[in-house]
Formats: sequence, structure tokens, C-alpha cells
Amino acid sequence: MTTETRLRIAMQKSGRLSDDTQSLLKRCGLKLNVSDRRLLAHVSNMPIDIMRVRSSDIPGLVMDGVCDLGIVGDNTLEEAALERQLMGSKSEYIKTSPLNFGGCRLSIAMPEEFNYQGVDSLNGLRFATTYPQLLKRFASQNGINVDFCMLNGSVEVAPRVGLADGICDLVSTGTTLEANGLKEVEIIFRSTASLIQTVEQLSPKKQSILNTILPRIQGVMKAKESKYIMLHAPKDRISEVSALMPGKETPTILPLAGRDDLVAVHVVATETIFWETMEALKSLGCNSILVMPIEKMMG
Ligand code: AMP
Repeated sequence: MTTETRLRIAMQKSGRLSDDTQSLLKRCGLKLNVSDRRLLAHVSNMPIDIMRVRSSDIPGLVMDGVCDLGIVGDNTLEEAALERQLMGSKSEYIKTSPLNFGGCRLSIAMPEEFNYQGVDSLNGLRFATTYPQLLKRFASQNGINVDFCMLNGSVEVAPRVGLADGICDLVSTGTTLEANGLKEVEIIFRSTASLIQTVEQLSPKKQSILNTILPRIQGVMKAKESKYIMLHAPKDRISEVSALMPGKETPTILPLAGRDDLVAVHVVATETIFWETMEALKSLGCNSILVMPIEKMMG
């Protein structure tokens, strides 16, 4: 059982996930000051410490039980787990909650002129990558042999300078591939950020802190995806209006002062509201259509 009374969370110090992670923790009500250079930041209003480290160090810190929780990309997590299994180090963790940021995919990309005819055409080739274990797993699952060279950045440049035939790297928008004359030929892993937890049993004190912050994290995630919609609708078209609302919540119908023909409809929509939906609502005779962000949700 872990003994300290302050829950320790590992997060990325700087990089693609750090802003979203920091904002998630703040929206969960954690008061933290990470503007200084200290790598261990105390949360002033809860018994929590935030350890700010390199992404690739987070899985090991959680797997070894040095940190109780970690927020890390699935790509980094899976690569570290495979590597630690190979080395015989501890590689277990609990996936406490997926998080809805840091979405990307790990893909194999080849020069534009490469004649891609399916996975077999990658057999015997050499790839520049930061993810050799995920690449090797993909190759063995597909019955091909590949060679690799490790690069920790600027992977996309490798084919052009003759270092490799292709690359296996993270793709988010695809802009970097295009700018470097590469085309995506296989997606080998899809990733988002995750909240992970050590497999070691937490002390009752730490468990109770986790029990407090976990519903908050899930509430922030849910709120981010949801919108509050308010509109005025013709009374006789309520069922058509309700059918257009994305999400499963039952709408609240309220009378409008001095109007017998119109009612106010309020609903929490759990999906994106497209302009087309708003236009369809308008054509049913709705007006004053407001779509608002939700800050927090519980229950
Ligand atoms: P993009 O041009 O948006 O496809 O981004 C590709 C570049 O950003 C590549 O150099 C990737 O290594 C890097 N990248 C994309 N997504 C992530 C991520 N979630 N974490 C770290 N690096 C990423």
C-alpha cells in the first residue's frame, strides 16, 4: 500500500498535452501554480502534488508506484508498456479514465512516389520512428519484417536524407506529412490522453482524494462535449423540435409570459450542434435559438 498522504499525479511538463492537462486540473477545482520552475508543484487547496516530467517518463513513474496517477497519451503508454515487458520491468497500470483531448494516430507514411500495394509492400523496409515497439508489433501481426532507426523528433525528414525508406510517426492533422512530401499508408494505433493509476493499493486517505477528483474529471469531460440549448418553439411542434435535438436528455418545456402559441425549450445536448440543426429548428418556426457552453456537470 502507498503510504504518503498526498496524492501524486504525473503530468507532461511541456508539449502537446500540457496545456489541456493543466486546464483539466484547474477546472476540477485544483489550485496549482506551475508557472515556477519547480518540478513538484503543490496543489494549495487539496492534498495533491503534481509532478511535471517528460511524457515518456510518466508510464514508468506510475508503473513503479512513484506516482499514484498519471495523465499521458495512449501512444506513449503503450510503447512504454511493451518496452518494459521486454526488459522484464513492471508494466501494469489501471486505465482509470479516457480523456477527450490529445487525439492523434500513429501511422506509417511513405514518400508520395512510393507505389503502395498493401502491407506486404512494406516488407524489408527501414522506418524512422520514436515508437519501435508499436512498429515491431504491427509488423509481426502482419507477418512482415521491418528495420527501424530511432529518432526523437523531426522524424518526417528521414526519408529525404536517406536515413530510412519511410516513417512511423504521430499524425494529428496531416499537415506535417504533406509539407514533407509523405503520404499516410497505414494507421497502426489510435490514441487520446488517458488518466492512469498505479496497481498498488492506495492508502485510504489517497483513495478518498481520488474518489473526490474522479467524478470532477468525468464531469469536466462531459461538460466539454455538451451544450445547453435554449429556444422558443411553437407549442404544436414540440415533438418535431425534440426529435431534432442531439442527445438523450428530456427537454424542459416552460410557458412564455403572454404567449399561448410559443413555449421555451431548454435541453442539454450531448453532441455537437451543427448550423444545419439550427436552420432546421428555425424552419419549424423556432426563434431565439441559443447554444451555450457548459462549464461543469454532475449527476
Ligand atoms: P500534424 O501536422 O498536425 O499531423 O502533426 C504532426 C506532427 O506533430 C508530428 O511531428 C508529430 O510527431 C507531432 N504530433 C502530432 N500529434 C501529437 C501528439 N498527440 N503528441 C505528440 N506529438 C504529436
